Amino acid sequence: MKLLQGKVAIITGAASARGLGKAAATLFAEHGARVAILDLDAQAAAAAAADLTGYGHVGLACDVTDKNACLEMAEQLIGMFGQIDVLVNNAGITQPLKLMDIAPENYEAVLDVNLRGTLYMSQAMTPHFRALGKASIVNMSSVSAQRGGGIFGGPHYSAAKAGILGLTKAMAREMAPEGVRVNAICPGFIDTDITAGKLTKDMRAQVLAGIPMGRAGTARDVAGCCLFLASDLSGYVTGSEIDVNGGSLI
Ligand code: NAD
Repeated sequence: MKLLQGKVAIITGAASARGLGKAAATLFAEHGARVAILDLDAQAAAAAAADLTGYGHVGLACDVTDKNACLEMAEQLIGMFGQIDVLVNNAGITQPLKLMDIAPENYEAVLDVNLRGTLYMSQAMTPHFRALGKASIVNMSSVSAQRGGGIFGGPHYSAAKAGILGLTKAMAREMAPEGVRVNAICPGFIDTDITAGKLTKDMRAQVLAGIPMGRAGTARDVAGCCLFLASDLSGYVTGSEIDVNGGSLI
């Protein structure tokens, strides 16, 4: 059964080959969606879109920290597809800094991409979603928001990802009567470019020992949750945060 047949989804930060956004785009395409992959580099985004099964996908450059770029992109995509059903705010950056090492420009960069980008892209699509009366927004948070830090993100990353949880709930409350659902995903330790090759064997073993399921997550594990939240299967789910972490918080 294809869960997104006939639907159109925008996924930000989805050009990275091993990333969570690309995995979601791949699974969405397998489930019949046409996908707009947005990322910083136009060529990389176009190449990622060309990889997807099915037809009608596009890959375009859009810096989510630029409000005008988000507004123009929304207009362009609505013109191209007519109707857009799903927005996944996945673009994010992290910096492994300790509290006292966070300079103002670090704080700005991490808050900008993760939190401001989520707000801007959501604002750009909201008039369309409201007019449709049915849409799903999925925001990518992190286990770092819930337990105050992870291995790769500093306190500013935790703050940005916790901000996403608040934004998600407030947006969900405001737009529930209009048929727009808004949810967040909190991935735990997932093998992607953000995490690859950055831990020694011993450090990795230590991390895995803290995960009851005993393994790192895969981008496909997170994509499955994105698919559920994007599809009508989650029609009565809004304002929630779903953990995809192998039981890390049990
Ligand atoms: P990734 O680095 O592979 O992908 C992030 C993508 O975002 C990149 O393609 C990058 O070019 C893009 N991007 C960066 N700044 C952008 C901007 N201003 N505008 C548009 N695109 C921009 O990372 P990933 O591991 O796939 O992570 C995806 C999301 O999941 C991020 O929000 C990350 O914080 C979150 N996350 C990842 C993990 C993990 O273990 N990998 C865990 C928890 C949360």
